[in-house]
Amino acid sequence: MALESPAHLAGFRVGDELLRIDGRAFRDVIEYQLLVDGEDPEVQVRRGHQELFVTVQKPAGTPLGIEVSAALFDRVRTCDNHCEFCFIYQLPKGMRRSLYVRDDDYRLSFLYGNFTTLTRFTELDLERVLTEHLSPLFVSIHSTDPILRSRMLRNARGATSLRWLRALLDGGIEVHGQIVVCPAVNDADALETTLAGVADEYPELASVACVPLGVSDHTSEPEMRPHTRSEAAAVVDLVEQWQELFKEALGRRLVYAADEYYLLSDRPFPVSAAYDGFPQHENGIGMGRAFAEEFEGAAGQATDARPGFFSWVDGAPASGYRARRLPITTIGAGFAPDGAPTGAMRRAGATTVMTGTTVMTGEYGARILEPLLAEYEGLEKGSIRLLPVRNCFFGGNIAVTGLLTGSDVSRVLEHEPRDRRYLLPDVCLSEGRFLDGLTLADLPRPVQVVPTDGRSLRRALDAGCSGHDRE
Ligand code: SF4
Repeated sequence: MALESPAHLAGFRVGDELLRIDGRAFRDVIEYQLLVDGEDPEVQVRRGHQELFVTVQKPAGTPLGIEVSAALFDRVRTCDNHCEFCFIYQLPKGMRRSLYVRDDDYRLSFLYGNFTTLTRFTELDLERVLTEHLSPLFVSIHSTDPILRSRMLRNARGATSLRWLRALLDGGIEVHGQIVVCPAVNDADALETTLAGVADEYPELASVACVPLGVSDHTSEPEMRPHTRSEAAAVVDLVEQWQELFKEALGRRLVYAADEYYLLSDRPFPVSAAYDGFPQHENGIGMGRAFAEEFEGAAGQATDARPGFFSWVDGAPASGYRARRLPITTIGAGFAPDGAPTGAMRRAGATTVMTGTTVMTGEYGARILEPLLAEYEGLEKGSIRLLPVRNCFFGGNIAVTGLLTGSDVSRVLEHEPRDRRYLLPDVCLSEGRFLDGLTLADLPRPVQVVPTDGRSLRRALDAGCSGHDRE
């Protein structure tokens, strides 16, 4: 609970259980936020065995200042599909339970940008989305061919559930789509058919991302395999052809290929303008281009997490892979936000022996960073090193930085010198933990966590080069 907030001043305590606002129960933070938005709401809470009614003094449109412990107060709606390419089926055993939840809940789509297939969407859901204008939403398309779509989802309802997409678009909801492209399943001609289907049936979509499937070493699906280089190039070619067609017909590109396709096919990323404001940045569309421009100072500001509901809801936590990242000021043991060693690190003499900065990242991230760091002046002095971390935890074609685990980072760090400062992007952490549950405290070297954008990395490097390491 925020100090001096209306809730704090009204006497709420950590652990109070919210029951009703102005006499009304609520199913999720969306309803909760709408209810507390008014002036002086009466909040009913349970504290131990007591039920209390508290009127909170606050103007309309301002937050209560309460941090709620879950986004959904009823149950998350889980998916009834069994996609061959589902990454959750490919997770090794023993990870934290929330990562195994296969959600297909439009509310999580609205709150966190999770993609929903709409196979469990209902008339009542549509009514609520339209009434409360829950926009934008994120929908998994995969194919507009009903037979192929139901085959990919392994769910007969996959053949018909895109009718809800039509209804959402008719109702004025902003919808972003995704096509997980699987080689020899929905790429090539099938992808062409899908993009034609988007043009014919869903041209109001705000954007469509073509992303490659992830294949970990733990897959049990023999048909699922990573794209070859020529298949990746074919996806890029097809998407770029359709961008031209969409631009002609609609005045905008609409469809975009994931960064992974450009890396896989050794093609340069498109220019910044070709991403039309980066509508699916968090989905790996244009991250590389945006990062480079931020690092080089060409971008006006960092391309941040999508602004949306979270920018105004009272501290509702995300979950699973899309949890909010650590605040910018959160730093690995022993470092201040500007990179200066503090406390134990300073007393341990770290301030006098640091020989330079090592930037850790995933294998794809390294391909983006390498030319940027090569141009950065510090590199000439040998003070900055790039350390790509191979993802052995998942294996397969998993090379994105966001899926690096603590065990991968530890394995690599163990063999690195102690007298360097280590930077790690915050996208590896969720609520302070790596995907395998390890924390920064479990790493064999102190690590400084840096927000995953080019400006922040540059600032962190500048801080290292400006004398902190050599005090
Ligand atoms: S819809 Fe998503 S969560 Fe459900 S099986 Fe398919 S990929 Fe997995």
